[in-house]
Amino acid sequence: MKVFFVLCAVVALGNAKRLFHNDQVLRTFPENVQQRNLLEKMPERFPMIDFWTSPKGVGHVDIHVPRAYVGAVKVFLARNRINNEVFVEDLQKNIEQERSPRPEQMDLASFDYNVYHTFDEIQQWINDITASSSIATKMSVGGSYEGREFSAVKLSTGGSKPAFVINCGIHAREWVSPAACMYAVKYFIDGTNDGSETILNSIDVYVIPSSNPDGYVYTWTNDRMWRKTRSNNNLRCMGVDPNRNWDVNWSGEGASANSCNDAYYGPSKFSEIEVTSQRDFVSAIPNVQGYIDVHAYSQYWMYPYGYKQGPPSLPDSAILSKIGSDSIGAIGAVHGKSFETGAISDVIYIASGSTADWFYEKAGITCSFAAELRDTGLYGFNLPEWQIQPAAEETFAGLKVIAQAVADGTCA
Ligand code: ZN
Repeated sequence: MKVFFVLCAVVALGNAKRLFHNDQVLRTFPENVQQRNLLEKMPERFPMIDFWTSPKGVGHVDIHVPRAYVGAVKVFLARNRINNEVFVEDLQKNIEQERSPRPEQMDLASFDYNVYHTFDEIQQWINDITASSSIATKMSVGGSYEGREFSAVKLSTGGSKPAFVINCGIHAREWVSPAACMYAVKYFIDGTNDGSETILNSIDVYVIPSSNPDGYVYTWTNDRMWRKTRSNNNLRCMGVDPNRNWDVNWSGEGASANSCNDAYYGPSKFSEIEVTSQRDFVSAIPNVQGYIDVHAYSQYWMYPYGYKQGPPSLPDSAILSKIGSDSIGAIGAVHGKSFETGAISDVIYIASGSTADWFYEKAGITCSFAAELRDTGLYGFNLPEWQIQPAAEETFAGLKVIAQAVADGTCA
């Protein structure tokens, strides 16, 4: 009987929604390599902390600290003279302010782009929008570990044209990514309808709104701060970082061997079915010349390499940096937000096994990018819904710069 109760308690715990009352996000300002190394080693002492920005990078480091550790972490930082400030006072409050309760949205007529959507709603929206538009087609990308099928929207006015692929939601908790990408599909279709958007006369666009379905569902049901896939590798923790799992310097610098780390590279290269699904789907599209993986947050518009420093092969570096600076100019012109551009390894940190590098180096897609949308940390992953539309508008301005480069042959 006792065993039965214990089992019930464990099961109940397993299904419980993780709460974040009085958890804080601390912004720390390491001033030298020693302090940076101390931050990097903090999970050994405080295993439940969660880096929202990597200590490997340059500049500040945002750390989500569970309530139980807040006091001890602050003492640790003070003792080591690492300057810091409380950036999020109570994470649960941010999560509750992020979205308001609403009925399920399952038809296109009442579909509200200015709210966050469940995975089922996104799939239904893909069905509906492709059924209602003559230029949009639903395509299956593949399956997930837990058996969910995920899809892409192909936008094409016909004929054979160079293609631009926009991938979204690979990191589960970055909710503004799928939201902005669904908006992008709508903008492309609306523009084609009213004739304002001529870009689809020259290129095809493929949008994958939610490419880590299990992780995304898990952020709705269990843990809002989940980032990885949900594969069970019989290790201490579940899931793999689907943006460290690609066969491009796999398991190298900027990826973790620890299954509990959010940047865990996985038991083997291409171990994740969501990753191989995307790889095979994109590889089967003829003449892809542009690719972007859309993340949040930090406001960056980046290009290869991630896994090493130094420019991508010439003359691509000139092309990529020009598109990068044109993109952030176009983004800033919409709502005044300032984004940063450059190689991933320069702008944030060295990261191995990522999408942008694989599509650039292994698939030969010249115009390969990785973006981090709003904001710069005030809300972090919990960007309030009222910011979805402005975020989507400025993102679309940036996407159009890449689309135009594909259209005019710059990326060929
Ligand atoms: Zn991400």
